[in-house]
Amino acid sequence: MTAVEKTMGRAFAPDQPEKAWKFSDILADPAIRQRWEKVRRYFFLRESTYDMTRRCNIRCNGCYYYEGEKQHARDNPDAAAWRELMQAEKARGITFVVLAGAEPSLVADLCRVCFDQIPLGAIATNGLKPIASDIGYRIHVSVWGNDETSRRVRGADGMLRRQIENYRSDPRAVFVYTFTRENIDEAGEVMEILAAEGCRATFNMFSAPVGYAGGLDHTPRTLLRTRKTMMSLMDRYPETILFSAYNAVAHTHTLGLHDLYGCPYPRMNPSTDVGLGRSFRQYRTDLTWDRGAACCVPDTDCADCRHYAAGSAVVTARMFRHAARPDTFTAWLDYVDTYLAVWVMGYGKEKNLCNELIAPPGHEIFEI
Ligand code: SF4
Ligand code: SF4
Repeated sequence: MTAVEKTMGRAFAPDQPEKAWKFSDILADPAIRQRWEKVRRYFFLRESTYDMTRRCNIRCNGCYYYEGEKQHARDNPDAAAWRELMQAEKARGITFVVLAGAEPSLVADLCRVCFDQIPLGAIATNGLKPIASDIGYRIHVSVWGNDETSRRVRGADGMLRRQIENYRSDPRAVFVYTFTRENIDEAGEVMEILAAEGCRATFNMFSAPVGYAGGLDHTPRTLLRTRKTMMSLMDRYPETILFSAYNAVAHTHTLGLHDLYGCPYPRMNPSTDVGLGRSFRQYRTDLTWDRGAACCVPDTDCADCRHYAAGSAVVTARMFRHAARPDTFTAWLDYVDTYLAVWVMGYGKEKNLCNELIAPPGHEIFEI
């Protein structure tokens, strides 16, 4: 019996006091130790994010970029200024960049400047304009439903077909399916197409911008339906979908990520001493940044934040509270393994260690 099995009810009767685990006892399980040794090699990653341009070739309902102040910053098209910024970022310890915006593929030359200076990172794109293969970042291609839904919500025709044409067989690409209140039942047909095309995918949750009233945000019922859909699709397409049961739990809870785990990004974290509170910056297109607004999805409503990019830092940063028990630590390892596979070129996803729904520390699993 492994340490994980012991805490899943097979070793302890519910009325028995719970064992106080030492971390070394948890690591005595060879599978847990192997995964821990694998993921801890990436603890050197220090991220910041960069809006590359305020331009986009489409306009989506619920885009957080076109909310708040950042959308009004002027573009800086000067490659030398970007090179200087990246050199300064490297000098202050940044090892991983997330290039976003609006649409980074419209300024691919600036993305290349970033890649030349800091070679680990990811680009968030709508996938309609291919990004040259010499820019070796992970490419996250956003999918918001089937083509009919994308036409209605994002105003673009034949989106999935065009995205697949651009990124089929591209080792950089991960298709990111964002579940909204409306597109839960379309995820199956989209995953079937992506699996048939040999693409990889992961899941995101629509997280409303501040003041949003556009109808794509989730209700408790759609959160639960989304979780069940995620679990069933993971089961059906294990080679295609980079995700875990704990990802599904964390991102479909009625509580957002901040309420579940405490968000460490500067916007919600006044500490300037350690971790993201100290190192993270979110640069606007004019290369300025504002500590009070800095997080990976600025102008998102924190109470509704279940964004996959946010979770990659919010959940990952909470190692110690997960390391109190084998089941929560194993769930956390699956989460980190997923995060690294989705975000870091060259990192291969392992088989999940835990396929059961484990409650976040200090919380119940949300059910209706
Ligand atoms: S593609 Fe991305 S940046 Fe462009 S409008 Fe849609 S969500 Fe916003
Ligand atoms: S929107 Fe999400 S990631 Fe940003 S500060 Fe709020 S909880 Fe953190």
